[in-house]
Amino acid sequence: MTPENKMQFLFSLRSKGITDRRTLGAMEKVDRQDFMRGVFAQRAYEDQPMPIACGQTISQPSVVALMTQTLNVQPRDKVLEIGTGSGYQAAILSHLARRVYSVDRHTRLVREAQAIFNELGLTNITTMAKDGSYGLPEQAPFDRIIVTAAAEDPPSPLLAQLKVGGIMVLPVGQSDTVQNLIKVTKLEKGFDYEELKSVRFVPLLEGMERE
Ligand code: SAH
Repeated sequence: MTPENKMQFLFSLRSKGITDRRTLGAMEKVDRQDFMRGVFAQRAYEDQPMPIACGQTISQPSVVALMTQTLNVQPRDKVLEIGTGSGYQAAILSHLARRVYSVDRHTRLVREAQAIFNELGLTNITTMAKDGSYGLPEQAPFDRIIVTAAAEDPPSPLLAQLKVGGIMVLPVGQSDTVQNLIKVTKLEKGFDYEELKSVRFVPLLEGMERE
């Protein structure tokens, strides 16, 4: 990433309402191009979602930044991500959290993302090929949970695996209609829900893919 690219990239995030210093710092440390292959890699700094392997997408940088800012990750936090995809979001979270667990139902995406984390020396990310609809009970509870694929409603196993005071950010809604990015905070009793903006993500699907 050239210094010009970096300045432009950060400027564009700020102009879209990303003001949190730690979020901007983490976004600055991770080069999106490292997570993209082929012709699309040249367009890594555009604020657009782009295709990756297995028919999936790397999310739009301003949405990654908004989800990161909303999660408000603290240095001691244990974070769960459902939907590793390219690994870009997990890499950003790894600069803010103590440990990041990231799962994807595509074995190939998990393998490729893990290889990039190894190359970049991001040792606090644990990846797993798994259907994330059920969360990761063996590592629960989590301080923060981020889901980067859209479900109709927040999956109840994920709500159960969140600590009291914990935050979950996820898109909800039917896949080809309107989805809303929401913030869920777990209270002593019940949950608080906040709508952030309309978005478009690939759907959260059940079961594993062979690839
Ligand atoms: N966070 C990613 C974007 C991921 S796209 C990035 O930064 O690039 C959404 C991902 O969710 C896809 O890779 C898809 O395979 C995955 N996914 C969909 N349903 C899933 C499920 N039930 N469990 C785990 N991963 C799932």
